[in-house]
Amino acid sequence: MGRLWGYATIAAMAIGAIALPATSRADGFLGFELLQLDGAGVKWMTTSNSERPLTLTYALLDHEQTFDEARNCDGMTPLEPALSRSGIDKDHLEAELQAAFAMWSAVANINFRQVDSGTPSDIVIGAQMRPIGYAFTDVHYRRSNGGINAIDRSLICLNPQRRWKIGFDGDLGSYDLRYTIAHEIGHAIGLDHPGASGQMMAFNYDERFRQLQVGDITGVTNIYGRRTDGTGAAEPANENRGAEYASVPTR
Ligand SMILES: [Zn+2]
Repeated sequence: MGRLWGYATIAAMAIGAIALPATSRADGFLGFELLQLDGAGVKWMTTSNSERPLTLTYALLDHEQTFDEARNCDGMTPLEPALSRSGIDKDHLEAELQAAFAMWSAVANINFRQVDSGTPSDIVIGAQMRPIGYAFTDVHYRRSNGGINAIDRSLICLNPQRRWKIGFDGDLGSYDLRYTIAHEIGHAIGLDHPGASGQMMAFNYDERFRQLQVGDITGVTNIYGRRTDGTGAAEPANENRGAEYASVPTR
């Protein structure tokens, strides 16, 4: 039984922003939590391509598709029509996706490349056929004996019945697309929730920051190593590279 589905989820309920910077946490709080599935950590070790450094491909689903054994993302439809109801078109969707992936590749030694929907991809993004909560990630992995489990596919599915937005407007009942996708990518590459708030991987949606926080950065570099070759996405890289060493303001 080498192939199993695990899952992780973004909280379905948003709470108001609590002014609690990560640095005020109890001693020993690391600000990140590694995803544990089947009693062991998980990470991407190989991908559907052979690119080095590790390059994961992602695709927007362009037709209805079911994924056996998956949980919340077992049935997905294209995300684009769902988002167009929120006034978000394909160009903006792709730009926000790119920005969300770039956050992670800017700080850790892992790359992401969008491929056409028809091409098999490591990460598949779509809308839920059975709308629930806001967004989920299903992580498919191969169990290893005593080691780290190898992720070989991740599914990210958003609830098409919610209203989605780009940017913050103070309405915590409507989630920013980039923030949500960045959070789900964190799950897709092996991170869990470190707590309720203060990090992008925290399980409550809030609008105090729209970049990875120090715990998120520590977590992803713990798994994939720190980006050192300077090939990460240019724009967020400078911003985040500073944040890796300095304390990150929490707004
Ligand atoms: Zn989550």
